[in-house]
Amino acid sequence: MKIGFIGLGNMGGPMAANLAKAGHEVAGFDLTAPCPAGVTAADSATKAAEGAEVVLTMLPNGEILRAVAGEVTPAMQAGAVLCDCSTVDVASARDVAAQAAAAGLGALDAPVSGGVGGAAAGTLTFMVGGSEDAFAKVLPLFEIMGQKAVHCGAAGSGQAAKICNNMILGVTMAVTCEAFALADKLGLDRQKMFDVVSTSSGYSWSMNAYCPAPGIGPQSPADNDYKPGFAAELMLKDLRLSQQAAEEADADTPMGQHVTELFARFVEQEDGKGRDFSALLPRFAARGRNA
Ligand code: NAD
Repeated sequence: MKIGFIGLGNMGGPMAANLAKAGHEVAGFDLTAPCPAGVTAADSATKAAEGAEVVLTMLPNGEILRAVAGEVTPAMQAGAVLCDCSTVDVASARDVAAQAAAAGLGALDAPVSGGVGGAAAGTLTFMVGGSEDAFAKVLPLFEIMGQKAVHCGAAGSGQAAKICNNMILGVTMAVTCEAFALADKLGLDRQKMFDVVSTSSGYSWSMNAYCPAPGIGPQSPADNDYKPGFAAELMLKDLRLSQQAAEEADADTPMGQHVTELFARFVEQEDGKGRDFSALLPRFAARGRNA
């Protein structure tokens, strides 16, 4: 398949490389990042999109996505699909889909879970919003770049699934960390706490698969001095998108709102930037109740 790939950063670079490795003809463009092996460098986003059956984007935010979509949709061939894999606000995803439809193009919002490791290994999960036809067309590419693609519904549903998932993740990680810090102060051994909670009703992915306490449970960023992993500032980005969506949809999300404020403090006023999001545990452990 002839593919255009715009945004070749930490995620987009290895994703484009995997498509090229699988035998697809990939033209790539990025303002700064180098073109990975096997991908042909285009001079502009428009050039990367010309003649492509699918144009993939992997960009920092909704504003940049809107600008790039405005640039490339007029250059895309009729019937081609614009598939955005970035994490952006639901409103931008829906607006870009409407713009693509008006130009006779298909559109998908297909944010991913799995991080840089998953992008390199081709094991991402795609959560996808858009039409059945567009989903069927891009599915073979999702199968190369990832291990699972879930068609979630109409335009915007992929982004909705992503931010709801990450709002749950942010809240469960925060409460898991504060529970470990409370257990410390109550004199409860961390290993015993893990043994009980990981097999009791408090279990979660945060406790069982990504335990924030070093030396306990499976290997996680806690065992590597809280180097990410999933950086606290990326969690903050996703939490802010969840609150923006909640605001627009008039949804009551008190836990999501609270954990967004917590991560904002951690990243912007404390030492959270550049650390894994599970580094909330040493933060809580070092504080008293009214700190
Ligand atoms: P990144 O900053 O490494 O890559 C983004 C790339 O977009 C950069 O190379 C930048 O030069 C390029 N870019 C910006 N404006 C452009 C333009 N107008 N034209 C062409 N290229 C342009 O970020 P990343 O880590 O690859 O993340 C990309 C997206 O994936 C984000 O939306 C992020 O939230 C999401 N995401 C990231 C992770 C992760 O672990 N890094 C995990 C899941 C989702």
